[in-house]
Amino acid sequence: MTIAVYPASFDPITNGHLDVARRAARLFDEVILAVAHRPNKNLLFTTEQRLAMIREAVDHLPNIRVDFFETLVVEYAQQVGATVLVRGLRASTDFEHEFQMAHINHCLTPMIETVCLMADQQYTFLSSSAVREIAAYKGDVGPFVPPHVAAALTQVFAHHEEARR
Ligand code: ADP
Repeated sequence: MTIAVYPASFDPITNGHLDVARRAARLFDEVILAVAHRPNKNLLFTTEQRLAMIREAVDHLPNIRVDFFETLVVEYAQQVGATVLVRGLRASTDFEHEFQMAHINHCLTPMIETVCLMADQQYTFLSSSAVREIAAYKGDVGPFVPPHVAAALTQVFAHHEEARR
């Protein structure tokens, strides 16, 4: 039984993340989407909100689980019995970072392999930060995230606007 962990900020989860998760779920027995719990990082959504959004998005996929971690990712992977870390590769800009992380994680825990899936062509230029930026200026994020995530973005920026008044 091969368990894979897909660790990320998911702030918020996008259709690009979901595409990687679905494809990983066809390769491995179980895939855990693991939200990085980093209270000191200035994220748009809380860990609870990110977990809830992901759960709603993958509810129908039986071999995908959702969890969070607040340790080194390799430590978390070992705790849950995972031997694979899944990451997505978009343009060449992701490569340097992913290559470095994979190397470091391999040095820390040689038993754990990083598997990178190439981003689907339609999601190559999609990122959580772009989605946040579009939503902040009331643009349509419909093509990039599931409907409930789009609704959460609208709500969070409406709150921000209210707070500024
Ligand atoms: P991080 O956790 O590094 O802050 P993200 O949550 O944005 O960043 O992304 C986590 C992982 O998902 C990375 O491996 C990233 O390359 C991948 N990823 C992000 N967006 C996409 C996308 N549109 N298509 C494929 N992979 C993606």
